[in-house]
Amino acid sequence: MKETADLEEMWRAARPSDGCIICGRAGQEGMRVCGQLICDACEREIVQTEVEDDAYRRYVEQMKLIWLSALAL
Ligand SMILES: [Zn+2]
Repeated sequence: MKETADLEEMWRAARPSDGCIICGRAGQEGMRVCGQLICDACEREIVQTEVEDDAYRRYVEQMKLIWLSALAL
């Protein structure tokens, strides 16, 4: 069991940008922002979800900044 966990950790460390930065799932199709992957499901969620709590709101603001800086490149 431990070996599996170590392997997963190594895999993650070796390919840091391969998982969605939001849900953490790897191997998802999606958009890359500054080398960070946002999978389609999370992108849709961000766009559709009502801003309800402060943490989410802050997160969305962060994402906007990342998007903007990516567009400005
Ligand atoms: Zn995701």
